[in-house]
Amino acid sequence: MKRLIILLMISFLLTACLFPPPPPPQTGSDSSTESLPPANDQSSQNQNQASPTSEAESESHTSDAPHTSDVDATHLEIGDGKYSTTPQVGYVFSCQTNYNGLGATGAPGNWINGDGTWNALMKAVVDGSVSWPHSFSISIQGDQRVLTGNGLPDHTTGNYPISPSDDAYVYDRNPNSISEQNITLTLPANPTIASQPTCVGGDVGIMLSGVVLFNAFDALGRDAQVHEVQDECDGHPQQAGVYHYHALSDCLEDTKTGHSALMGYAFDGFGIYG
Ligand SMILES: [Zn+2]
Repeated sequence: MKRLIILLMISFLLTACLFPPPPPPQTGSDSSTESLPPANDQSSQNQNQASPTSEAESESHTSDAPHTSDVDATHLEIGDGKYSTTPQVGYVFSCQTNYNGLGATGAPGNWINGDGTWNALMKAVVDGSVSWPHSFSISIQGDQRVLTGNGLPDHTTGNYPISPSDDAYVYDRNPNSISEQNITLTLPANPTIASQPTCVGGDVGIMLSGVVLFNAFDALGRDAQVHEVQDECDGHPQQAGVYHYHALSDCLEDTKTGHSALMGYAFDGFGIYG
C-alpha cells in the first residue's frame, strides 16, 4: 500500500534504531569510495536549481487477513525534522542531526495540505519508463549474507534528470542522472537484536530490486518522501547517480494476504517486509 509508506518508513527506521550499526557498504564505482555516496541526499538541491526538492498494517500477520489498512492516504503526517540524537518515539535516531544542505527554493508540492499532513494521492510522479542492465545477487558465505550488485533496478525508472517538460519539474528539478554503482554488502545472515540502540546513517538498507534504501530525510532534514519527487517505482538518483528509495517501492511485489513478502535487508541484516 504505497499510500502508507511513510508510516512504514517511520516504523522501520525506528525499529532500525534498535539494532546494531550497519556495516559500511562496500561500494565504489568511482574506485576510491568505500561507502555509498552521502545518502543524506541532495538529489534536487545541487546545481543551484531552485527547486522545492525536493501501514501500518494493523492486522496480525498470523492470519490470512488481506493487507488492508484504514490509514487515510490523503492526510499522512509529514516527518520534517523528526530526527533526534537519542532514541525517541516518533523520531529517527539519526547519526546526522545537522542538516544544512543547500536551501531549496521553489514551489512547495501542491500535495502538502498545510496542516502538517500531505496527500499521497496528489503527489507528482516523474515520467518515464527506462530499462536498465540490472545485476544483483545474494549468497550465504558462512554466517554472512553477501549482496552484490550494480545498483540498477530490476524495474524501469523515470527519466532523469527531470525534464523541464515533466510536470514534476515544477516541484523538483532533480538534475542527476542514474549511474551504475559497485555495491558489495556483507551482512549477518542471522542477525540478533542489539543490547543498545544505535543511530542510523544516510543509507539504511538494500531492496531485492537491487536498489539502495536511504533514510527518511532530504539534505534539509525534511521528509524526503514528501518533498522530493520520485518516479512510479518511488526512486530517484542523488548527486553521485545512486538510484534509491526513501520508502517501500510500489514496484516490489508483496503478498496479498498472510505474511508480507521479504523485500530487502536492512544493513543490520534483518529483513525488510511489506
Ligand atoms: Zn532521495
